[in-house]
Amino acid sequence: MKSLQLRAREERRLRSGHLWIYSNEVDITATPLKGFEPGDLAVVTDARRQVLGTATVNPNTLLCGRLIDRGRVEPDARWFLIRLRRAWAWRERLGVLPYCRLFNSEGDGVSGLIVDLYGDVAVVQLNTAGLERLKEPLLQALGELHDFRGILFSNSSSGRRLENLAAADDVFGDVPEHCQLDEAGCRFTVDLKAGQKTGWYFDQRDNRQRFMPLLRGCSVLDVFSYVGAWGVGAGKAGSGPVTCIDSSAPALELAGQNARANGLDLELMAADAAPAMQALRTAGRQFGAVLLDPPPLVKRKKDLQAGKAHYAKLNELGATLLAPGGILISSSCSHHLSAEDLQRTVYKAARRGNRELQLVARGGQSADHPLHPAIPETEYLKALVFRALN
Ligand code: SAH
Repeated sequence: MKSLQLRAREERRLRSGHLWIYSNEVDITATPLKGFEPGDLAVVTDARRQVLGTATVNPNTLLCGRLIDRGRVEPDARWFLIRLRRAWAWRERLGVLPYCRLFNSEGDGVSGLIVDLYGDVAVVQLNTAGLERLKEPLLQALGELHDFRGILFSNSSSGRRLENLAAADDVFGDVPEHCQLDEAGCRFTVDLKAGQKTGWYFDQRDNRQRFMPLLRGCSVLDVFSYVGAWGVGAGKAGSGPVTCIDSSAPALELAGQNARANGLDLELMAADAAPAMQALRTAGRQFGAVLLDPPPLVKRKKDLQAGKAHYAKLNELGATLLAPGGILISSSCSHHLSAEDLQRTVYKAARRGNRELQLVARGGQSADHPLHPAIPETEYLKALVFRALN
């Protein structure tokens, strides 16, 4: 196996538990990055040649190495199986099988590996060139873990694009176009192949479960609704009428279908969120609850100011659409925007719209999305629940 030597003192982060290696931390005189092909495995050493572990390497990316083991290993099916079983045991304990995130990248110890479960279908994202090369042993391990009907290797992630990986889905066994999923007493249909993420946002499930009872009896505006997880769940939990806004027509169509399958009816608006909310405001509409769950609006640190302004705009509109005493559940999945930042942004935006808010609860990502305690980037989702005092 090749070796990747770090510059003096650059090993400290890895020793403190971190898994990432940036290209400027590599001693390129000792181990030039051009000696690596994307996806190579390497033994990582400190400047004194002491072994720190094994990493997958991609010389073409800034984040050029990801430690996958603290020892020297060539991952085989058994190596994957140990990690998958550990992850499975946690989801079993949470009681979320078989509809959940089974494996959450760094949080479960293998940077770049995502596995979501849709009943007996597993959807896998391999987000590094290194993992792409380890597909065979992983596939074998998944087969030993559970008798899956089908396994879909999905291409739909920005991580794969960054690593320059092939854009085609890869299917093993029987993977239907649409899958069924149960959440909170509702049955949903999701689109595994053309949908977003792997088809469903499991990261919001715990927040939905926790905050849905607050929506009882309220008219609900679900902005960025995707296929209706919040909106349909709210209706089922006894909310008043639900309006969904999303710019994706196929997602909204599925939301409508999901509502009907659960004996509900949604008002659907296929539109850009801000102008659609503005139009509702002009029409004098008000809602007992407004849910905002936009896509990440701060992708890079340098977009923070522009992103904050975007969150502010959406939240000002959301707050002004609240009926007196109404509830605003404002989410952000941008790691670079902290919960405190979001909290301040929403509060200020609401005041600009002459609404005074109190903060009644805070939520994060579901417990089947473990964080890596040494990697702050693995914590990204926050959902803040506010109540309007006026
Ligand atoms: N709330 C959903 C997840 C939302 S993901 C759930 O819990 O399942 C973000 C959604 O925002 C996606 O469905 C995407 O289609 C939609 N979206 C992205 N940009 C948008 C825009 N400008 N206006 C409206 N919807 C948008």
